[in-house]
Amino acid sequence: MRGSGFGTKGVDRTEPRTLSMKDWIEECFDRFGRSKEYPEDVVKFRCPVCGTVQTKEDFVPFFDKEIELLGVFGLSCIGRWSEEKGCDYAGGGLFKLNPVSVVLENGRIVDVFEFAEAEKEV
Ligand SMILES: [Zn+2]
Repeated sequence: MRGSGFGTKGVDRTEPRTLSMKDWIEECFDRFGRSKEYPEDVVKFRCPVCGTVQTKEDFVPFFDKEIELLGVFGLSCIGRWSEEKGCDYAGGGLFKLNPVSVVLENGRIVDVFEFAEAEKEV
């Protein structure tokens, strides 16, 4: 695949892009399947800094409330909570490296991680 840009560690060098919430959800289900009701239950994200693939399941042990989990999932790396994998990158911090801008229905924009390739399941 010419120009796909995978480095030796398998980290995507993804071009920044912007899409609507509706399209983002659609792409999410297209990539990861429609087996579950919510996109956050199927999505796999890749941290733009360390390349770690992370799912909602990875975050569940660290959060009592789902609403808090969803406030960081796909925005900040699992490594901020887990000592076993990831890095300490926080998407809401000073360095904004999240490549995908999702435009919400109210016009607000949330920058999130790029999807991990579905076939690269670990
Ligand atoms: Zn990371």
